[in-house]
Amino acid sequence: MTQRAVELLSNYIKLDTTNPPGNEYLAAEFFARILETHGVPFKTYQSKPGRASIRAVIQGSGQKKPLIMLHHMDVVPANGDEWSFDPFGGEIIHGFICGRGALDTKSLGIIQLLALLEIKKRGIKLHRDLIFLATADEESGGDCGVEYLLREYPDDFQADLVLNEGGYLVKDISSNSLVAMISPGEKGPCWLKLSRKGMTGHGSTPHSQNCLEKMTRAVNRLLNYEVPLKLTPIAAEYFKKLARSWDLLKPYADDGREDTLLKLLADNGLLSMPQISAMLRNTISLNMLKSGDRVNVIPSSAEALIDTRLLPGQDLQKWLHFIKTQLADDEIQVETVLGNEGNASDMYTESYNLIEKALLDHYPGAVVAPYLMTGTTDSRFFREKNMLAYGLCPVEVPPDDMKSIHGIDEKLSIDSLIKGIEVYTDIIRRLCA
Ligand SMILES: [Zn+2]
Repeated sequence: MTQRAVELLSNYIKLDTTNPPGNEYLAAEFFARILETHGVPFKTYQSKPGRASIRAVIQGSGQKKPLIMLHHMDVVPANGDEWSFDPFGGEIIHGFICGRGALDTKSLGIIQLLALLEIKKRGIKLHRDLIFLATADEESGGDCGVEYLLREYPDDFQADLVLNEGGYLVKDISSNSLVAMISPGEKGPCWLKLSRKGMTGHGSTPHSQNCLEKMTRAVNRLLNYEVPLKLTPIAAEYFKKLARSWDLLKPYADDGREDTLLKLLADNGLLSMPQISAMLRNTISLNMLKSGDRVNVIPSSAEALIDTRLLPGQDLQKWLHFIKTQLADDEIQVETVLGNEGNASDMYTESYNLIEKALLDHYPGAVVAPYLMTGTTDSRFFREKNMLAYGLCPVEVPPDDMKSIHGIDEKLSIDSLIKGIEVYTDIIRRLCA
């Protein structure tokens, strides 16, 4: 099993599915060959030339609606010069499988594939269809992937439960115990392009209509505003679970009050941790500023691109109104490049409880906690259609390696992969049999 799993992941990483352009057909063909060998029926979908997705199914009795195991085959670009190994070499180095996608999300794809094949091999009777779904284009918004599939082939993707990327196992920073995460929700990206025109002129004679100066002042007004904290149900539950092993959260474990929690997080410096801060508020990040091309010329236009992210439950229109009020400059045009609200699935369900129980069985002593993702995934498309979607990838990842997702030197230990396959297969069995 170990050698086969390692080989599969290594070979999968070697397929360059960098998006753009994607070329996910390479990966779809890779899966098609394996599925064919094992006699699992499958279907491929092509949204555009080179942009393929693949769906395989093991039939169940139909007592319950299907379960979809979802992952995306595309990866974000990797600049090999910055890496200490070839991002598309699939090398095995000191017990790690190395390369782009080792975490996001090619390992999950191999885990799901091997869970599917194992269940087929053992002839386990299922009370629902088990669907393996590997898609294109997650990293660029899903237009050529899940968005396309759900629009064009809705009947193929009806499910009671979708398990997607999202929850890893990490060592707790304060108690050293394992935290196993299940992600029932994620924030919504709202990307804004601000543009402003102004009067040009010579840099030697400054005037008051310099659009770049006006833009920076307006953006500063926005950035200087401290966005209020807001405890979502997912974050409340997350800290409630952590409070069982974190002494510093003990008062919150005792009284369960929101103000107690926020005060504890503030007093202990945890709110200054970007990941925790982002779980508890809408965020604003100024990431691009474009204007001018000569030092002695007052520019005639200025542009700022801002990445904001909304917690589930926040209203997009109200947020846009807040942004404009804060900029306080009527001549700035605000264009919504991408406007999504946050989204979340119910976490008080039989399926959630079952996954939680399985994780506790495999990792006695671990804390299993719901986690609000700050990034976005394809889960949002399924949640929009009222399907339950959870992020679950039971592999242990050291905190430092989390930075390699979309960063450099992405890798996963062989031990984590193998344990992940065992745990995931058991969870799927419990959910389907
Ligand atoms: Zn990603």
